[in-house]
Formats: sequence, C-alpha cells, structure tokens
Amino acid sequence: MQAADWKPVPPEGERESRRYIDYFTRNGITKGSVLKSVELTYARSNVFFDDTYTYFEKSGTFRVACAKGCAMCCHTMVSVLPPEAFYLANYIRTQFEPDASRAMIERIVAHDAEHRGKSGAARHVGHIACPMLDPETHLCTVHAGRPLTCRSMHSGDLGACRTAFDTRDAYHPAPSHALFFKNTQAYYDAYGTALYDSGLFVEPLELNAALATIFTGKNVFVRWLKGENPFEEALADAALTDAPPPVS
Ligand code: SF4
Repeated sequence: MQAADWKPVPPEGERESRRYIDYFTRNGITKGSVLKSVELTYARSNVFFDDTYTYFEKSGTFRVACAKGCAMCCHTMVSVLPPEAFYLANYIRTQFEPDASRAMIERIVAHDAEHRGKSGAARHVGHIACPMLDPETHLCTVHAGRPLTCRSMHSGDLGACRTAFDTRDAYHPAPSHALFFKNTQAYYDAYGTALYDSGLFVEPLELNAALATIFTGKNVFVRWLKGENPFEEALADAALTDAPPPVS
C-alpha cells in the first residue's frame, strides 16, 4: 500500500471484546485490573488518535478546529460506562494534591446535587459547564483521565460551535469525523460485552452523577464488582428524556 493510501483503521468492537475477555480471564476482575484496563484503553486510544491526526494532515481530508482553552463542548452531558467512572474517581483521588482533590470532590457533588437529571441539551442551552472544567483557563482539569466520550469530541468548524453556543441552540450541527466516534464505540462495545458477560452491571451513566455516587456512597466499587447496581440514580437514560428549556 502506498503511504498516501494509508488510513487508520478504528478498533472493531467484537475483536476488542475478545481482547478484554482474555485480559480479565488472565487477571481476574478486580479493582486493579479494571483500572488498568481503562488506562490501557486510553493509551491505545491516544495512539489511534495520533495516527488519525497524521492521516488528516497528510490527506487534507479533515481539519480539526479544536484548540486549547476552547471548551464549548464541555457544556453538555457526558456518558460513561462504570469502569471509566471508577478510573476518573481514582484519578481525582490520587493525581490531585490532597486539598485540590477534596475541593474537586466537593465541587462535583455540589454540581450533581444542582443539575442531576438534566439532559445534554439542557446543559448546553443553560451554559452549564462540567465541574471539572477550570472556569478561568477553560482547560479540563482531568485531561489525562478524561472519558472516551470527551476524547472523541473533535469539531471541524469552530464557527459552527460558536454559533451553537452563543445562540444556545443544542441542535446546531458542527461537523466532526466518524473515525473519532468509531474508536469510542468500539471500546464501549468491548467493555460492555466483556464485563456484562461476566455478570457485572454495565449501562451508560451520566458522568457527574456516577462520580458523586462513587464519592458519597459506601463501597461502591466493591458492590459493583459483586454484580450489584450501585448506579440506579445515575443512569444516563434518565437524563436523556429531559427536554431542553426554551431558547431565550
Ligand atoms: S471531563 Fe474534561 S473534557 Fe470532559 S466535559 Fe469535563 S471538562 Fe470537558
């Protein structure tokens, strides 16, 4: 194949599922193996995204318009599967300085108490920022541990994002590229299958509600590993039915 014809191939859900099943068969399903599997997923995802950026640059088929400090897409609902929520909770507990960690946990819990159940559209229209977004720098404070959904967000048109944000129109289209979303979907399918088949609860969760549940609940990780569902109040589906408020 000529270098010019090369195109990154996104991971494929079924093949990835088999990898995760093998991984958990070898390592067991424990706190450590679940957190490690998310870390490995992010590392592999980063390699795929780097390849994708290179492909776009060489082929000129797509131009990523996103830039540091542009966080309009951080005003929506983020859905995650339980392993990513546990990973991010652990990241906030271990990668922040103790005072900053406590402050962030309080901020997430307070944000969730105020906004739980709101849809992505309602958060966009209301300009409700993710609590992990730094309000001054507009940088993600958990960038290295952010979920796959956040990693897949790539706009090809800054003007479209700006119009959608300024006019509070949650349905104004901003072009993106399927390669980014296929990567996320493949890993979702892989986690979903490997862990669901092992008897664990695997449903999409609303990120902040899931984190607040982990931070305020008792033994949430242990209960989930036993096959319980500690996330009844954090299901993403519950937020998806919320209609956005009228544009003012
Ligand atoms: S976790 Fe980070 S990237 Fe994701 S919505 Fe929040 S601030 Fe934005």
